[in-house]
Amino acid sequence: MADRDGDAPDHTSAGPVHGTRADGSPWSTATRVVAGGRPAREPDAPVNHPVALSSTFVGAGAPAPGARTYARSGNASWDPLEEVLADLEGAGPDGGALVLASGMAAVAAVLSLVPVGGRVVAPGSSYNTTVELLERLASEGRAHVTFVDVADTGAVEDALDDRADLLWLESPTNPLLEVADLRACADAGHAAGALVAVDGTFATPLVQQPLALGADVVVHSVTKLLSGHSDVLLGAVATSDAGLLQRLSTYRRIHGAIAGPMEAWLALRGLRTLALRVERTGVTAADLARRLDAHPAVGRVRHPSLAHDPGHERARAQMRGFGSVLSFEPAGTEGLDDAEVARRADAFVAALRLWTPATSLGGVESLVERRRRHANEPASTPPGLLRLSVGLEDADDLWDDLAQALAALP
Ligand SMILES: *Cc1c(COP(=O)(O)O)cnc(C)c1O
Repeated sequence: MADRDGDAPDHTSAGPVHGTRADGSPWSTATRVVAGGRPAREPDAPVNHPVALSSTFVGAGAPAPGARTYARSGNASWDPLEEVLADLEGAGPDGGALVLASGMAAVAAVLSLVPVGGRVVAPGSSYNTTVELLERLASEGRAHVTFVDVADTGAVEDALDDRADLLWLESPTNPLLEVADLRACADAGHAAGALVAVDGTFATPLVQQPLALGADVVVHSVTKLLSGHSDVLLGAVATSDAGLLQRLSTYRRIHGAIAGPMEAWLALRGLRTLALRVERTGVTAADLARRLDAHPAVGRVRHPSLAHDPGHERARAQMRGFGSVLSFEPAGTEGLDDAEVARRADAFVAALRLWTPATSLGGVESLVERRRRHANEPASTPPGLLRLSVGLEDADDLWDDLAQALAALP
């Protein structure tokens, strides 16, 4: 679709991969994550798309003008990554994926779809900066926001109140690992006339497919597991709805929160190993959750792999795995004030040698963080809660480090 000021077709992604086996069944996602987004097989062609460092493309007046114009509208460096993401999410022939400058740029793009004065229902206990943005929209009078516990489907239905513009879901949530019933919530959202968006960052499309469960749009912080090496900030949205894709693409072009070519290239390079990383980090995370759960110095452990976790059955039903992030609180803090609880958790972090004390998650290296150290962390996060992002190190080495730091707790 030509743009009014003539500088764009908004969406220029190449479309999904259609790789099949001899019997016509589709390749598995483990194959598609490797095989998608490649240059055509011609003699001497590179196997990876090059980084296209160009702000503009030969166009008007050229002998054969192409679809590209200006690199804010669409460019060759986004296409292969968007092609793979759209395919993994099952965005289908009318849909697609769009990469944006960061996960928050992707969140902001979807929230921009809410009309002024519109109604939003969202998890109060979820990624802190998303909550901060929603609170800001509410305090500025731009939207009415109702925060709910998204693990409580009845509470979500009540909050929708038969009339809402956007149901924002995150599952599993950051950092409490709560699991929303995506199918039931999406149905309730649609019955209330709402657009349904799911932040699927913790699960990745290999573990959970929100579009297939009824969501209209999926949001990712590509910064995390998708790129996987803690060396790039990037976000993405995916949808199977052509109209929604066009609106989000126009938003990206006119607001300008675009991804750099190098970031897109790095993210696709990282994405090639996603299936292996998701599998291995998921196994290690479940193993560490079980060992922490049995340790006397550890209080509540949160990871949907644990049979007693409130999200366990739901995660088994709608996910293919339980994810590589878990959280726990040190035990024996009853009666202590929040500052002392925080001090003890911080002392535990300081005693670690292998785990890196840092925010973020989903990289090859294991990270640990006391989430309430951030001023914008929702108060629903306990003061001593430690979020662990499990990387690719040996599980016994990771456990050994946790155990020695637990032994040093008062
Ligand atoms: C990190 C994160 C974001 C924000 O992504 P950035 O790439 O840091 O902007 C959004 N949602 C969740 C669940 C996250 O973990």
